Amino acid sequence: MNENEVREVIIIGGAVAGYTAALYTARANMNPLVIEGLTWGGQLMITSDVENYPGYPGGVMGPEMMQDFRRQAARFGAEFITDDATRVDFSERPFRVWVGDDEYRAETVIIATGANARQLGLESEKRLQGRGVSYCAVCDAAFFKDQDVVVVGGGDSAMEEATFLAKFADKVIIVHRRDVFRASPIMFDRAQASDKIEFVTDSVVEEVLGEDRVTGVVVRNLKTDEQTEIPADAFFVAIGHDPNTQLFRGQIDMDEAGYIVTKGKTSETNVEGVFAVGDVQDHVYRQAVTAAGSGCMGALDAERWLAAQRGRELDALAAPRSD
Ligand code: NAP
Repeated sequence: MNENEVREVIIIGGAVAGYTAALYTARANMNPLVIEGLTWGGQLMITSDVENYPGYPGGVMGPEMMQDFRRQAARFGAEFITDDATRVDFSERPFRVWVGDDEYRAETVIIATGANARQLGLESEKRLQGRGVSYCAVCDAAFFKDQDVVVVGGGDSAMEEATFLAKFADKVIIVHRRDVFRASPIMFDRAQASDKIEFVTDSVVEEVLGEDRVTGVVVRNLKTDEQTEIPADAFFVAIGHDPNTQLFRGQIDMDEAGYIVTKGKTSETNVEGVFAVGDVQDHVYRQAVTAAGSGCMGALDAERWLAAQRGRELDALAAPRSD
């Protein structure tokens, strides 16, 4: 890889949106460089069965799907750096992106660094991920038909997940650390109206139980210090998401939660030539299929912007000089 060359496009982030952008830009002969991160693959690497991605009638394992996405982009010539981008400079073109001391330059950049579901940080939570511990009810609720599930969180996500889960599960228990809910009244009321949903307040989840599959959780009441075991077949963590945008602070416009702001129905950011795709700019849909669609949009936007830019530069060169 020649570090002095100015590439047509650098893609930062190797998961659904980034690999899709890589596939499309590679097929547009843009010779993409994907700085995919040390732990490439994103949220799907902590997902077992993916049953809601169109085109896989039998389902697919999340990590396997990510390998396929990556392989497909590689087939058309995408190049990868399996390390984290450590610094960017979008103040002038060509844009500059560093991986440690190595500097890479490009005429366009597509940001696809995603967002991470917040985790409680328990050892047992990590061990049982994909085995009953889940961060996405839309993805996994159907696996727990007529079973009992626990949801942790007190915001809109927790209410939405619990309400969705109640369509399948026999019983949904929301565990929240306070007795006041951050969720909007309408979402809270909807959850409260369900006769399948119960609330355990002023309590934290201290352990997820189970060897190979979730069998329950241990909660501790913060007021009485009393510990209780709640039997359950699944444990949904719904305590929010964090977009991976620390790298871009001060370089690009973000909303108050740190998501990159894109313009209208495009992937354009406030910096011309820099595009953002997938969960890093979407806190609403957060699905693999929407991230893939967004990655495609970013690739097309970058390709078209670059063509228009070159047209403008040629026009400027051809214009008669006024001096
Ligand atoms: P959020 O509003 O930040 O709520 C996170 C919840 O998790 C809070 O109740 C918080 O408790 C709890 N929590 C955080 N860390 C915890 C921990 N370590 N242990 C236990 N509990 C913990 O996040 P969100 O619910 O994902 O919502 C994010 C944004 O998206 C909001 O603006 C929301 O309105 C929006 N959203 C909208 C919809 C919708 O309209 N359909 C759906 C989902 C999300 P505390 O309250 O005690 O801090």
